[in-house]
Amino acid sequence: MGIIVQKYGGSSVADIERIKDVAKRIVKTKNQGNSVVVVVSALGDTTDNLLEMAYKMTSLPPERELDMLLATGEQVSVALLSMAIHSLGHEAISFTGQQVGIVTDAVHTKAKILDIHSERILSAIEEGKIVIVAGFQGVTGDNDITTLGRGGSDTTAVALAAKLKADICEIYTDVDGVYTADPHIAPSASKIAEISFDEMLEMAATGAKVLQARSVEFGRNHGVAIHVRSSFSDEPGTLIEEAGKIMEKAIISGVTHDVDEAKITILGVPDRPGIAAKVFRTLADANVNVDMIIQNVSEKGCADISFTVVKDDLDRAKDVVDKITVELKARGSTCDEGIAKISLIGAGMKTHPGVAADMFSVLAENNINIEMISTSSIKISCVISEKDVESAVKALHEKFGLGSNKG
Ligand code: ADP
Ligand code: ASP
Ligand code: MG
Repeated sequence: MGIIVQKYGGSSVADIERIKDVAKRIVKTKNQGNSVVVVVSALGDTTDNLLEMAYKMTSLPPERELDMLLATGEQVSVALLSMAIHSLGHEAISFTGQQVGIVTDAVHTKAKILDIHSERILSAIEEGKIVIVAGFQGVTGDNDITTLGRGGSDTTAVALAAKLKADICEIYTDVDGVYTADPHIAPSASKIAEISFDEMLEMAATGAKVLQARSVEFGRNHGVAIHVRSSFSDEPGTLIEEAGKIMEKAIISGVTHDVDEAKITILGVPDRPGIAAKVFRTLADANVNVDMIIQNVSEKGCADISFTVVKDDLDRAKDVVDKITVELKARGSTCDEGIAKISLIGAGMKTHPGVAADMFSVLAENNINIEMISTSSIKISCVISEKDVESAVKALHEKFGLGSNKG
């Protein structure tokens, strides 16, 4: 009997009625002759509400304790969903990440899965039970609870699908697939029927929060087919798979945006070998994830270094930067929280010159200033002011004809 992993996000289990609906969908899949392993997120806005409480308590909550708090959200949803399935006359059993041995490193609030001991899940499946696993959480070798970063239930699901060699990993959410832009920002966005792991990874990494980037990486590395679809309908969604299997190849797959980053600039750092290494090593040691980096031309032996970090890491990054500024005798530092990153993703860029120029022209025509640029073979990202983000998404989406060229 094949195994299907299904993941239901917060909006899919926002209240009792939604949980009952989800239970029916799970039972239907089981009745079709599959073994079903379900991963669930916390109900609705629970994680946001828990975070808000923590930050009311203290401006810098200890990360171990944050994980203790945040992991409670998913424990509520697995228990309720299991009860809902029981009430439909089916056997289900709920587990925390710790109970099913989702072992992670000890980087609290953004831990990485190292291993999954699947024995308990497999024996429950063997007994004919539907298995419900709490998403987003794991446990260290020292038995401390960890969480996997925002959106981490996606990664729990794909990692479980890989470990259990599931036929498919279905990600159920509040939209019916991956779109050419966030459908809540660009109403003309169209659903993408199939997309390669590489393009989806770039979309997720640049702000399309419909999937956590790490889940796509996991899927790619372990060959897990992922189907993103709606828990509110039976419509087929978006299949994420190997590039070679994709029938329709567009030049540009989508426009993404991200308003969760801030820009830090260290002013007047000495321009000599080893300085960038020192700055970014110190940030890495403090577990700050750096995204884009720019160093300007040296003037009088000094340069400015700008980089972006996720806002969740900002306080820690500022701490590090203050220390480095003194240590390197730099002139000072600035921080801008009002930025946005806007990106164009598409494998076709490799063979179509001029996409970057077109992107910059669209931004210029809309009077939008570009503060930073970074490119990869299938992505172009620009940092702009946060106030321009919606108009930039709409203008780029329109310019590249994304609303009409997908079915
Ligand atoms: P869940 O609670 O199910 O995990 P999320 O809120 O994490 O759901 O992700 C779904 C949301 O992702 C959608 O409601 C949508 O606003 C957003 N999103 C951003 N970019 C995209 C995109 N390109 N395609 C689809 N959804 C997107
Ligand atoms: N509940 C967690 C969050 O809101 C994990 C998830 O939903 O994937 O980020
Ligand atoms: Mg999510």
